[in-house]
Amino acid sequence: MRVLITGAAGFLGSHLADRFLKDGHSVVGLDNFLTGHPDNIAHLMGHDRFSFIRHNISDYSYVAGPLDGVLHFASPASPVDYLEMPIQTLKVGSLGTHNALGLALAKQARFLLASTSEVYGDPLVHPQPETYWGNVNPIGPRGCYDEAKRFAEAITMAYHRAQGVDTRIVRIFNTYGTRMRPGDGRVVSNFIVQALNGEPISIYGDGSQSRSFCYVSDEVEGIYRLFQSDEHLPVNIGNPNEFTVRQLAELVLELTGSKSVITSHPLPTDDPKVRQPDITRARTLLGWEPTIQLREGLAQTIEYFRGLQGSARMQPPT
Ligand code: UDP
Repeated sequence: MRVLITGAAGFLGSHLADRFLKDGHSVVGLDNFLTGHPDNIAHLMGHDRFSFIRHNISDYSYVAGPLDGVLHFASPASPVDYLEMPIQTLKVGSLGTHNALGLALAKQARFLLASTSEVYGDPLVHPQPETYWGNVNPIGPRGCYDEAKRFAEAITMAYHRAQGVDTRIVRIFNTYGTRMRPGDGRVVSNFIVQALNGEPISIYGDGSQSRSFCYVSDEVEGIYRLFQSDEHLPVNIGNPNEFTVRQLAELVLELTGSKSVITSHPLPTDDPKVRQPDITRARTLLGWEPTIQLREGLAQTIEYFRGLQGSARMQPPT
């Protein structure tokens, strides 16, 4: 197969490119480096089955040659990023998804949308099954991401139903691991960077809010299997093991051996109080479940960030 991955220089996009290449497929990577980084794909440059297009998928997009798959992963995905870039976030979820679907239609390629647990908003049902319609504030600061992804799901289903495009939708829950951007502002990267730099660990609110953290290799394997399945309706891919933000901070301190203190900051507006995927569908349809638990995944992620220490990329988080 020859597949196009938008956001290929991003955290998930670059790991997905590796996964397709590993199985002998060809990958066309597309990225405008808004939040992705060339370092994430530096190891692929010169690979005979990898090519790269520097482009914004929100603009009209042309890709030469046949494509068997289009995987749309381009988007700011950290709350700090999409609060800073709300228009770009709305555009890539709407115009970018439209362009990516148009490419899939023109090439008769399978399409996979990277959607998100944010479509559930601040959930009133816990854990969240795919049948839950969510609790989203459309005009709050997170609305730019949540509603863009909800629109993206809607237009994906419309292209499936009206145009017969062979579509997949993955709802990705909090994922962490190597190639996260040190300054992207997400909780795992923030806490590790702060711990390694000996800076205070910034807990927002009282730290009792929960998230369920999936290691990147598990996430990518689930997405890869979904792409190869026949399932058109959304599938949650995430690790159901749930932790409070305070528990995460304590685990990062233990694993890094850092003496950093914990400090409190205001809770961001509309920050979801709980989040845990119901992965019954992924288990049943894909025979998939996560294999790497938080302690092991964090240890690998800490090693990665240690390797960046001293580099310009290891800036203090924003
Ligand atoms: N968070 C925190 N300190 C930080 C960054 C995030 O306490 O330095 C909290 C944030 O308020 C949220 C959780 O950690 O409750 C996860 O935040 P993240 O930005 O990783 O992504 P989200 O799951 O909210 O999309």
